[in-house]
Amino acid sequence: ITQLRSLDSMRRDFISNLSHELRTPVSVIRANSETLIDGAIEDKIQARIFAKAILHNAERLSDMVSSLLDLSRIEYGELKLNFEEINLDLFIQNYIQSVANLSKKKEINIIYKPEHKGTVNADLQAIERIMNNLIDNAIKYSENGSDITILTSNESDNYIKVMVKDTGEGISDEDKNHIFSRFYRTASARATDNQGSGLGLAIVKHLVNNLNGEVGIESKPQEGSIFWFTLPNY
Ligand code: ADP
Repeated sequence: ITQLRSLDSMRRDFISNLSHELRTPVSVIRANSETLIDGAIEDKIQARIFAKAILHNAERLSDMVSSLLDLSRIEYGELKLNFEEINLDLFIQNYIQSVANLSKKKEINIIYKPEHKGTVNADLQAIERIMNNLIDNAIKYSENGSDITILTSNESDNYIKVMVKDTGEGISDEDKNHIFSRFYRTASARATDNQGSGLGLAIVKHLVNNLNGEVGIESKPQEGSIFWFTLPNY
């Protein structure tokens, strides 16, 4: 009974969080459409501004829905993973090249400091998605012109650890406890960035767990963060 109650309360939390997150973009789309219909459509400049806001919020909704679908597929084990021997070193080198355009926009330099030996047993696409989420965040929450460092090490005989280190705003101890939960965003992220959904790190956690690894974070406010994950050796 206790387990059922806790499931029920998780379901209620989920629905209430989801409704809350959906409300803002839906309200913007609604209000802007009404303004357009009420006359703004006649004014070309105004019409463009309102239409752009509608598009932006529709895109946000669409991103949120795809992230939720991804998350549920991953959680229910419906995502097929293709485990194979992966040369992490080669993967990270190629990966950094592939995101160079993204980091260049903020003049961010991605540095790679490999210190691991051996290969991992994992799914290539899954590692790429994990890295995409961590690097996206590191770029998003860092100042222009700063460095992001990707470090690796042998965590133990059986695991390799990958760390993504930034010198951004960091995360408080209180926030650390919730950061991997669905929809969780820090107060400062909510205040300054209206793009995120708080689903990226939940996806990271579930993907890493499905790859039989662990995730974690080390951070001091104002000094930056290290998001890390481990993967089993091949
Ligand atoms: P979002 O789409 O909001 O970025 P995530 O699940 O990826 O969602 O991250 C959840 C929250 O964790 C973010 O809203 C932000 O508050 C915080 N966060 C994530 N990565 C970092 C980082 N590198 N530095 C500071 N805060 C971060």
